[in-house]
Amino acid sequence: PAAFLGQSVIPLVNKLQDIFSQLGSASTVDLPQVAVVGSQSSGKSSVLEALVGRDFLPRGSDICTRRPLVLQLVQTLKRSEDRSEIVEWGEFLHIPGRRFTDFAMICKEIQAETDRELGTNKGISERQIRLKIFSPNVLNITLVDLPGITKVPVGDQPSDIEARVRTMILSYIKHETCIILAVSPANADLANSDALQMARMADPDGSRTIGVITKLDIMDRGTDARNLLLGNVVPLRLGYIGVVNRSQEDIAANRSIREALNNEENFFRSRPVYHNLGDRCGTPLLAKKLNMILVEHIKAILPELKARISTQMITMQKELASYGELTESKSGQGALLLGIITKYTHGFQSIVDGKNEEMSTT
Ligand code: GDP
Ligand code: MG
Repeated sequence: PAAFLGQSVIPLVNKLQDIFSQLGSASTVDLPQVAVVGSQSSGKSSVLEALVGRDFLPRGSDICTRRPLVLQLVQTLKRSEDRSEIVEWGEFLHIPGRRFTDFAMICKEIQAETDRELGTNKGISERQIRLKIFSPNVLNITLVDLPGITKVPVGDQPSDIEARVRTMILSYIKHETCIILAVSPANADLANSDALQMARMADPDGSRTIGVITKLDIMDRGTDARNLLLGNVVPLRLGYIGVVNRSQEDIAANRSIREALNNEENFFRSRPVYHNLGDRCGTPLLAKKLNMILVEHIKAILPELKARISTQMITMQKELASYGELTESKSGQGALLLGIITKYTHGFQSIVDGKNEEMSTT
């Protein structure tokens, strides 16, 4: 399928990781976090899930996300053709050592752990749930699913629920390295969007905010999201992407992410009003846009990475020199390594400068 989060960036990052592992140091490519913000039930969890391409987040019409979920994607080595090998699993920080290979169980555990801390009566907490997803098909990146903004306290919620949630959200999105997915439903007034309002507070010049418009499928009859997506209603520097996620009915009927993506594609294809907005419509386009931003980020940190490699090279060469004459083979290895690094670095630079789309790992 086209473009999940990380698809085009993975080869790039892998190459960098290769360089560092040849140098004997651990992975040093720090990618930005991605956080979703918006009002309750705007579709934040749905958007994150569609980006990852797996079902594992609790979603629903009521409040579901009541604690921040810090989701760390961890790339594992690809296993051989042996299909019996388990290649994707999740692990919670609060249950060390237990591998969840059934993603439905991950979803259940998120709910159970939320309830353990908070009871079942709608309370919220800033205490994180930390989940790692191990897979050969992901980028090493951290995604944060956050509770949504609500105005009226329900259940156990304190009277200042709105202020508390806002403070919690801000503590994540204020960081310069956080990419903000500001999620607003198409069936509500964008000028009233909590997502855009909070995003603007944290990122006034809009350099790290992507607008996501959900629920295009349930807009009022006779209306469409063209003007929203074009930025005519609320301008946004990095622009908007419109998506159609699964409805509650789809979730109840256990429709898969794949079906949902097909459904989304059909939706846009069957509506002429969106035809010339192709670059602003659909989850794959959102993934693509995020990937492009990540590539930009890597581009920006490249000089620093290069400097780090050079420093390590100099140290290594000094060490080699200290071995004196007897190290023919060792210095030969050093030269070889230098050659490899130079090749990779150049190759990497040309990838970054040139075509970000079709990156080959060879
Ligand atoms: P969150 O509270 O912002 O995390 O929102 P959820 O992802 O839990 O979604 C809230 C509800 O809206 C769920 O019932 C979803 O099925 C539904 N939903 C989310 N996105 C869409 C969409 O694009 N179209 C439709 N029809 N329903 C959606
Ligand atoms: Mg949610």
